[in-house]
Amino acid sequence: MKCKKCGAKASINMRQHKLALCKEHYLAWAPEQTERFIKKYRMFQRDERILVAVSGGKDSLSLWDILYCLGYQADGLYIGLGIDEGIGYSAESQRLCQKFAEARGLHLHIVDVAQEYGQPIPALAQISHRGRGRPCAVCGLTKRHIMNRVARDLGYDVLATGHNLDDEVAVLFGNTLHWATSYLVRQGPVLHEGPGFVRKVKPLCRFYEREMAAYAILRGIEYIYDECPFAEGATSIYYKELLNKLENDKPGAKLTFYLRFLDAREAGFFAPTADSMPELHPCPNCGQPTSNEGLCSFCRLIEKAQLHA
Ligand SMILES: [Zn+2]
Ligand SMILES: [Zn+2]
Repeated sequence: MKCKKCGAKASINMRQHKLALCKEHYLAWAPEQTERFIKKYRMFQRDERILVAVSGGKDSLSLWDILYCLGYQADGLYIGLGIDEGIGYSAESQRLCQKFAEARGLHLHIVDVAQEYGQPIPALAQISHRGRGRPCAVCGLTKRHIMNRVARDLGYDVLATGHNLDDEVAVLFGNTLHWATSYLVRQGPVLHEGPGFVRKVKPLCRFYEREMAAYAILRGIEYIYDECPFAEGATSIYYKELLNKLENDKPGAKLTFYLRFLDAREAGFFAPTADSMPELHPCPNCGQPTSNEGLCSFCRLIEKAQLHA
């Protein structure tokens, strides 16, 4: 397989684009594509300040690297979850994020869940009913709360996450199976800001997972290979496996599924309803918007944890 641009040995073959590229041309192509998506979906402007949520994985670190190479003003946010299973998942992922930031002279904010809220994620998950069985719901709730809080408190215009096409298509597949229109209407490359909510964007939403792995490896980015030890057996992983079989037989199937969904959404197929747009008011404790009567779900979780402490 040869590079389409220069004829040298290809480092990656992207069947869905009928495009093979060498290392040099791939490392130029990926940021060009990202820039194109940032503009196409109107994610942010040059003069806006971006907060990139980094986990130590290939996607979020590649995203930060690409934004840095493109000359955007992007700082990082690492959330210490306190997950010690396996090889010391959290400690190692934090180390890799710090190393990445130092090497590029970038600023990394670190929020440690246990330090700030008294308990790490595994303990919070045990206390909460939401976490029965799997801590992923508690983890997601906590991360969303902290990301929004930090971005707003520190005056960032936009929060960027490293979700890739495989992530987005797995979520889309789940939402479609359940015809969860209130979720479908909100799923897209950009979630606009609202009262109390910072704008959220996913600049990598059109890259396959393997493309981001290739980017990280070819750029020499050191990242944590392991999935979160708690994610094992999650439904999203099962969906990803199914979708990989489909992609293998029909290259480009995932991308087409996602892009045709965005077209349908744009055309108003999933119009917001009263159900999908609940009335929000500020949480009396933290001030973040919530549809709950009284405390937001995150503050309820922390209150419960303090009662158990
Ligand atoms: Zn080339
Ligand atoms: Zn609250």
